[in-house]
Amino acid sequence: EAVVHWFKRDLRLNDNRALHLAAAKAKSKNVPLICMFIVSPQDYQAHLTSPARVDFELRTLAIMKRDLAALDIPLYITSIDKRKRIPEHIMQLCEQWGARHLYCNIEYEVDELRREAMMTRKCLERGIAFTAVHDDIVVPPGALKTGQGKQYAVYSPWFRAWIAHVHKHPDLLEAFEAPGRNPTSTREKFKEVFEIVIPAAPPNKSLSDEEKKRFEHLWPAGEHEALMRLDRFLSERIGKYKDTRNFPAANSTATVSVHHSAGTLAARTSVRRARDVNNTKKLDGGNLGIAGWISEVAWRDFYKHVLAHWPYIWQVLKKRRFTMHKPFKYEYTNIEWEYNDAHFDAWCTGRTGFPIVDAAMRQLNHMGYMHNRCRMIVASFLAKDLLIDWRMGEIYFMEHLIDGDFASNNGGWGFSASTGVDPQPYFRIFNPLLQSEKFDPEGEYIRKWVEELADVKGKAIHDPYGRGAGDVAKRNGYPKPIVDHKKCRERALARYKAGIGRE
Ligand code: FAD
Repeated sequence: EAVVHWFKRDLRLNDNRALHLAAAKAKSKNVPLICMFIVSPQDYQAHLTSPARVDFELRTLAIMKRDLAALDIPLYITSIDKRKRIPEHIMQLCEQWGARHLYCNIEYEVDELRREAMMTRKCLERGIAFTAVHDDIVVPPGALKTGQGKQYAVYSPWFRAWIAHVHKHPDLLEAFEAPGRNPTSTREKFKEVFEIVIPAAPPNKSLSDEEKKRFEHLWPAGEHEALMRLDRFLSERIGKYKDTRNFPAANSTATVSVHHSAGTLAARTSVRRARDVNNTKKLDGGNLGIAGWISEVAWRDFYKHVLAHWPYIWQVLKKRRFTMHKPFKYEYTNIEWEYNDAHFDAWCTGRTGFPIVDAAMRQLNHMGYMHNRCRMIVASFLAKDLLIDWRMGEIYFMEHLIDGDFASNNGGWGFSASTGVDPQPYFRIFNPLLQSEKFDPEGEYIRKWVEELADVKGKAIHDPYGRGAGDVAKRNGYPKPIVDHKKCRERALARYKAGIGRE
């Protein structure tokens, strides 16, 4: 007999609800706990997972395999080409290991929910107890309702309800202990599983050697690193978060998004630890930096609630090239977008001639990460200045972000393009120059990422061709602005208005 825990995007031993329950069950029955992870190239393909993210997961799995082995817990890992076969494969393993109990944490995307529904049926047929629990977010989806009993579509009242709910149910923030040691006979019985090596990334999701080294250095993997990163942020920077979070050169945010999205860090752990360094138990009280940071982590919950309630934002429209996701605001389906390949290419490669946009896109391409303010700037620039379908940007982000998360990414794009849940009004169009002056006043961020402009002095950094630094920019091969913001603004206003008006 055995109890199985199926790891997905919950790649940690500590504070992992399903893993904790699985370990408790194994202990109560005095049988071994066996863990498994399935590498699914088709899922990577379907979910546009970036190679950097795949690499991060595989590096994390190597650490977990070692940590679990130290507890005599085997971690089974295999790669399955056809994702349809995953449930059956898991069933066969359960049978082979004599497992009567299977545990996992729920994922809220449509494909994953369908798979879990199928697992439920298969487990029922075979007499295996299947337990899938909420763990990925602090408050389970569906727990918060408006006065009319509906799902919130606006963040502020939702957040008030979120705060009240967590205050009322403080157990939501309690930590789940990591598993204890397996019976010593497990080593012998599951020898082959202990010996399994971590599979390589699928060829279309592999990094070059140079990229591998770079991402290893930028984003060390695993839950120990996640906790170190979080604790450093909590002891050094969170107090000033509210005033500094919007400045991309300030290194003032936690940079734990990859850990939240791969599950090397639970959102619950983050909120609990932030609360514990505050001088109040109230999540919205005490230090403004701490309360502000907790409210950002809550955005992640908000977008998952939205995804779980309105799965159509994930609907795949197979025949149309760029309409992978329907907008939350359905009337925005009719906006007439420009499909200008040269503009899209300039945006992707950071050669639009708008320094703040280019710096941000180059940060993304180099690090698999971009500062939140810059994500909003480049998203607004793509959807409104270039009038390119926001879904092309959403896809490009997923394909390059190491922290790519469908709900947060879709939510962020919907916000910036004004097509999503609780969005910017469509007539709010960021002026890239003003954003640059306000949030990168000294041009430090731009100089770091746009090397052609490294020698540009003073305020000219924000607009070298318009402010007398055109000769330096030209000499170093930096492009002129590809569009005129003022004209683009007028065009976007007209197109959005016409699109929304058309039924
Ligand atoms: P901090 O400022 O330290 O915030 C702490 C944590 O709160 C983050 O790690 C993240 O888990 C959560 N968080 C913060 N802001 C948001 C937000 N606006 N929405 C949801 N969660 C948030 N975040 C992702 O994790 N994955 C994505 O794919 C993603 N795509 C985005 C696309 C666009 C267009 C926009 C505007 C935002 C996107 N975000 C995404 C949200 C946000 O930019 C990142 O979570 C944040 O920049 C991560 O850096 P950090 O860990 O230092 O954040």
